[in-house]
Amino acid sequence: MPEMPEVEAVCRRLREEAEGCLVSRARVLRAGMASGDVETACSGARLERVERRGKNIFLHFSGDVILHVHLRMTGNLYVVPDHRLLVSTVRAVFELSDGRGIVFEDPRALGRMALVETLPELGWEPLDPGFTVAVLAGLAKGSKREAKVFLMDQGKVAGLGNIYAAEALFRAGIDPRRAMGTLGKARLARLHGAIVMVMSGAVETVYEEWGRPGNFVEAERERLQVYGREGEGCRVCGRGVLRLAQGGRSTYFCGFCQR
Ligand SMILES: [Zn+2]
Repeated sequence: MPEMPEVEAVCRRLREEAEGCLVSRARVLRAGMASGDVETACSGARLERVERRGKNIFLHFSGDVILHVHLRMTGNLYVVPDHRLLVSTVRAVFELSDGRGIVFEDPRALGRMALVETLPELGWEPLDPGFTVAVLAGLAKGSKREAKVFLMDQGKVAGLGNIYAAEALFRAGIDPRRAMGTLGKARLARLHGAIVMVMSGAVETVYEEWGRPGNFVEAERERLQVYGREGEGCRVCGRGVLRLAQGGRSTYFCGFCQR
């Protein structure tokens, strides 16, 4: 599953390379992966804005057309220099008037695109300047949910997936099982700082390294403190990193450094 930084990297590239471009023709090459008449809606439309919310991509076209793209496991959305030259795993192509193309490539074909009227209600973006310690404290107030599960709730903080929720809690020194509402001011401030630091660092690394969605974790692996490191030494205290199941997902943490 691509994490938010990969999706943000995809969006940044698209903004740089294709925002403002005219789609002369949109073609869906694999029926069933698109809902709504994407070909008709997007042909002749200009890509005005690329927006990311959590792990969702929204392509805003002229004529109030909004295309929601979810990359799922192996999807990627990027610009190719010639829209006539496509690899077999391209599921949709937006031919640009300058001869280039925006392709939706997806080897496993699990990704989806859909025309939508409105954007979904999602939680705060961790890198939005409006996401402050006070906002996090407000969300946490009275919550009996475990910190890790709370952080992965896209309705609270959007885009903090399994990897980065664990990483942020480690950096903040907070036990992932701790009830969110019991965290004091100082610990919430530390958690907020850790979330912002972890996410901004990851976005930069992924964007710089690029790589394909689904592969970035390898480029990121050296930066990870606890995720995927069960039994390996904690980078701070040297004790073995532990793993437990929370909300159906694996949580990695240090039982000594995180209280
Ligand atoms: Zn430790």
